[in-house]
Amino acid sequence: MARRRNNRSSRRNKKRKINKIKLSVLIIIIILFIAGTFKLTQGAILAIQNINDNKQKTSVKESSENDNETLQTEVDKNINKKYTILIDPGHGGNDKGTIANDKVTFEKDITLKIGALVAQKLTKQKDVQVIISRNEDKYVSLADRAKLANEQNVDALVSIHLNGQTGGSDATGLEVYYTKEKDDDSYELAKQIQETITSYIDVRDRGVKSDRFQVLLQSKMPAVLVECGFLTNNEEVKKLKDEEYQNDLAEGITQGILTYIDENMKK
Ligand SMILES: [Zn+2]
Repeated sequence: MARRRNNRSSRRNKKRKINKIKLSVLIIIIILFIAGTFKLTQGAILAIQNINDNKQKTSVKESSENDNETLQTEVDKNINKKYTILIDPGHGGNDKGTIANDKVTFEKDITLKIGALVAQKLTKQKDVQVIISRNEDKYVSLADRAKLANEQNVDALVSIHLNGQTGGSDATGLEVYYTKEKDDDSYELAKQIQETITSYIDVRDRGVKSDRFQVLLQSKMPAVLVECGFLTNNEEVKKLKDEEYQNDLAEGITQGILTYIDENMKK
């Protein structure tokens, strides 16, 4: 009996052992199940996040498309602007223009800076649109500048240059050129720009002059050439290289053009 009992108890022990194994397996299965579910959930979360990301990407895409639309409308609006001005930064590329005594300051670089500033300021006017003959350091022939003005049928051309004195360094100041050969409002445009700049900044006023510059002669609309200062004078070079001075010059040219439009074109 005792053996039997022993047998019984050992059977019971076996049963317990089996139960323990079953329980362990069950626990492992549960753990695996939970882990699996967690992974799945995480996967699902990731998938949702991806969808959201894609949605965001799409909305970014949509908004950049909207930006393009805005730009397009702005261009359309520009077409409806009443006055078109061609800003022509002198020289460019291989044609450096006048070179200062330091040998590294070129006319072509400063004319580009002043020209870009004038274009920026004029574009802000609701009735004025601007065409610029070059907005980078590249060569554009004088004939092509005039041709651009004629083809685009602009209302006025303003060429921007810096002066150079041959065989001397004492000359300073500002002068604006027009050409007498053309029977139009070129003189009025030159006078407005000259007067406005000299009222804005402290610079020697060399006055309005007439000369036969190719870009002025070949363009069919009022056209002027602004000589902003002398690169052959070391003191004036310092000023001309200064961004604030460039901005003042640009402001003077812009206000001069706007006064010209007010007084000569809005009749
Ligand atoms: Zn020049």
